[in-house]
Formats: sequence, C-alpha cells, structure tokens
Amino acid sequence: MAGTVCAGRYFTATTGRKQRRGLRYLLLPTLPTTALCPATRASAEIISSTGNIFSCSEYPLVPEAERSLPLAHIDDADLPVFRPEGPFDDWNDTVEAGKTWCRSCPLLPTCGGSCPKLWSEGQPPCPSYKHNFEGRFDLAAARQGMTVAAEPVAA
Ligand code: SF4
Repeated sequence: MAGTVCAGRYFTATTGRKQRRGLRYLLLPTLPTTALCPATRASAEIISSTGNIFSCSEYPLVPEAERSLPLAHIDDADLPVFRPEGPFDDWNDTVEAGKTWCRSCPLLPTCGGSCPKLWSEGQPPCPSYKHNFEGRFDLAAARQGMTVAAEPVAA
C-alpha cells in the first residue's frame, strides 16, 4: 500500500498549499450517503437509447454490454413491474457476507460500498478520503485555527 501512503501525503501537501492560498474545497464528507448505487435496487432501472434495460449505469451504449448484458428490452411483451434481476441486486448480502472490505469499514455510512461493479471486477472503489482521512482532519483543524500542541516537557 506504499502508493496509497504516497497518495495520502501528496493530497495533504497539495491541499495544504491550496488551503494556505485561501482556496475552498470539500475536505470531509458532510452528509451520509442518501442512497446506495441504484444498480442494487430492483426498483431502479436504466433504459438505453437502444431500448435495452439495465440496472447499472456503466452498461448502456457499451457495445459488448448492449449485446450480452441487457436485462430486458422495452419491446418485450411480458415486462414485469420491476426490472428483472440484475447482477448487483444481492449487494447487501455480498457486504454482509464479508466479500468486500465494507462490512467492517467505518466509512460505510458515507460511502455505501461505492460501486458493486468495480468490486466484482477486483478493483476496490474506495473513495480517496479512505486513504488520507488523518491528513484531512489535520487540514480541517487548521482551518479552524487549531495548531498542534507542544510536547510536554519531561520532568
Ligand atoms: S470506503 Fe471502501 S471499504 Fe469502506 S465502505 Fe466504501 S468501498 Fe467499502
């Protein structure tokens, strides 16, 4: 994870410079995530301009996905009320089973596990703040005028 550490230090250094120059940016999440990825809910669907119905927004208009991954088509005669089962409808069970890092992650309430598709492809989609939270807190504290306390003098 050396790259992660470097990324965190790089973030803290560059963002600290931005902060000293008075530029504004979002340091920490301010709200819990309001909804999981729609691909995890049968009540959400995406209709491609081709008429294909998908659960995941990464599939429409991708030639291979349009050929092999549609769940249904709007011209299908017997479309159910909710779209047919998609590849990520079992996301909550996947998290509960510990198949990702999310179950024990303290950031789950703000992240929701991010992208089930990327997890399924072996690419953990953790947001950057997972890797540099301490640096972000330091910068947030500096914004409030806080400084690091001096070490107590040994007796
Ligand atoms: S930060 Fe990563 S491990 Fe944590 S909940 Fe989000 S995707 Fe899962």
